[in-house]
Amino acid sequence: MTVLVVNSGSSSLKYAVVQPGSREFLADGIIEEIGSGSVPDHDAALRAAFDELAAGGLDLDALGLVAVGHRVVHGGKTFYRPTIIDDALIAKVEELAPLAPLHNPPAVLGIKVARKLLPDLPHVAVFDTAFFHDLPAAAATYAIDDELAEEWKIRRYGFHGTSHEYVSQQAAAFLDRPYESLNQIVLHLGNGASASAIAGGRPVDTSMGLTPMEGLVMGTRSGDIDPGIIMYLWRTAGMGVEDIESMLNRRSGVLGLGGENDFRKLHQRIDSGDESAQLAYDVYIHRLRKYIGAYLAVLGHTDVITFTAGVGENDAAVRRDALAGLSGLGIQIDEAVNSVRSKEARRISTPDSPTTVLVVPTNEELAIAQACVEVV
Ligand code: ADP
Repeated sequence: MTVLVVNSGSSSLKYAVVQPGSREFLADGIIEEIGSGSVPDHDAALRAAFDELAAGGLDLDALGLVAVGHRVVHGGKTFYRPTIIDDALIAKVEELAPLAPLHNPPAVLGIKVARKLLPDLPHVAVFDTAFFHDLPAAAATYAIDDELAEEWKIRRYGFHGTSHEYVSQQAAAFLDRPYESLNQIVLHLGNGASASAIAGGRPVDTSMGLTPMEGLVMGTRSGDIDPGIIMYLWRTAGMGVEDIESMLNRRSGVLGLGGENDFRKLHQRIDSGDESAQLAYDVYIHRLRKYIGAYLAVLGHTDVITFTAGVGENDAAVRRDALAGLSGLGIQIDEAVNSVRSKEARRISTPDSPTTVLVVPTNEELAIAQACVEVV
């Protein structure tokens, strides 16, 4: 069984042709700079993806695709499991656009063009919020006027759920332990970044909230700030909502502080003595440690801490500094093992560390393809 997975963003469209049974990727790629001359829109982007597949010798018709899986960032309160796409679902996802203005509209564009180009296949939406739909109320609720929150559906939804679920399941499989028996902290550190606390297989907290802006310091997003900053900028600096939103999403985080959002380049700047890059890194690590400490307390007892995504899988210094000096809390990394580069799931804690620390590569496309097969 073969699934086409489409992850449609505002300026890029990622695609993968996946056989979930064998976990094999027949092809994958990314069409970038949507909106530019050669790729004017999402329709052109998906056609370009099909051209790339054909050029690579993949004939989609001959493959016998069983479904097309779409990553959709915000499912709101409505969608919490992979769902076959129909016109009503598209309308609902469009209604959720104000909750994810940067993410849901391009996902809808991707869905619409894919349904047009592949009309005979079932299309399935897999929601980034789904894994966290049942967070305990104490973790999901903002301490604001409750009637207003109810009316405007303001709660903590959480994101990267497909990755947190996949990685925590892989961690349990790696340790050969039942999923329900483990308390886990997952640190998804990519360009976007989020942490989750999972108690006996059930997510009990996560760092992203109403939108993917809350929580950890990210590549270009601020994560947690005092909401007073927004009113202050609006009132005093004369910035409008769009200015502030774009500043917090695109010009903040390690980019905003250190001039780079790619950690490889950030380290180069630090090595050449750039103080702002060093501060960006320090702020990033400080926030990460705060969340790890918070989730240790939320869980009470933690069996596993797992690093994943671009930074988590590749940046040994981030892993080392995030957990440095925590042996009193039962966390001890083997620095020699931590610094070995690998693409495989691996243990980086010492054999006698009470908490196991793992690095587990995430694979959202595979998880989406697996979800599609289950639905269809
Ligand atoms: P996205 O959130 O876009 O899916 P990824 O999970 O692919 O992001 O992570 C991308 C980020 O991973 C890059 O911006 C970079 O900071 C980081 N990264 C990738 N490779 C390395 C590496 N070898 N060392 C350190 N950081 C890396």
